[in-house]
Amino acid sequence: MESGISFVDEFAWAEKGECRQLARAGLYTPQEMATIFHPGQGEDFALAKAICRNCPVQSECLSYAITHNERLGIWGGASGVERRRFYRKQYLQELRDAGIYVPGSPPGEVRRKSEAS
Ligand code: SF4
Repeated sequence: MESGISFVDEFAWAEKGECRQLARAGLYTPQEMATIFHPGQGEDFALAKAICRNCPVQSECLSYAITHNERLGIWGGASGVERRRFYRKQYLQELRDAGIYVPGSPPGEVRRKSEAS
């Protein structure tokens, strides 16, 4: 069953992205943009993060990357490692919300299910 939302609709926010504006203005070539937003391992992504900080659709971009489990590159000002930290925190919170004991939880926050009753 189709959701009725096309890829184009789902990605419409990207047109307003600061990265797109800079590319359109000719400040960076497409290849430079790719290198800035997809740096190699150990390379600097400070410029990408600085560009994202000025972006009017930063939250949409980050939300898209998280929803679609984008693992590589800078999205919404966050690197793949930073997004994975977010997934981990989110997953641990879901476990706590379900009443599942998570080692390292603040004392009294979540009890083992067997302790809850
Ligand atoms: S948040 Fe960054 S990567 Fe996302 S659209 Fe804006 S400038 Fe581009």
